[in-house]
Amino acid sequence: MEMPKVIPVCYCGNPAKLSMSWSNDNPGRRFFGCNKFGSRFQKPCRFFSWFDPPLMPRSRMVLLGLLKKVRTLEDARKRERITWLLVLAIVTVLLFLKA
Ligand SMILES: [Zn+2]
Repeated sequence: MEMPKVIPVCYCGNPAKLSMSWSNDNPGRRFFGCNKFGSRFQKPCRFFSWFDPPLMPRSRMVLLGLLKKVRTLEDARKRERITWLLVLAIVTVLLFLKA
């Protein structure tokens, strides 16, 4: 992956941080932002600058499709884990009832 040669300095004077966007409009697109971005800071810094060029509509579609698949798989795994915990709980209760 292409790495930045120059790291921009943001409004508050700190070197900006390279992060990756996971929004639906720009999945996987990297941008520079400040560590102090967000409302949890008293004086939030609004520095923002894209590093990667805009995604081609085709790449965006493919990426979004893949992201959706990953999320579906993660959900399925979560559900599976919950099912196993339930089974374990039921078996434990049954063992206690027999004892
Ligand atoms: Zn800043």
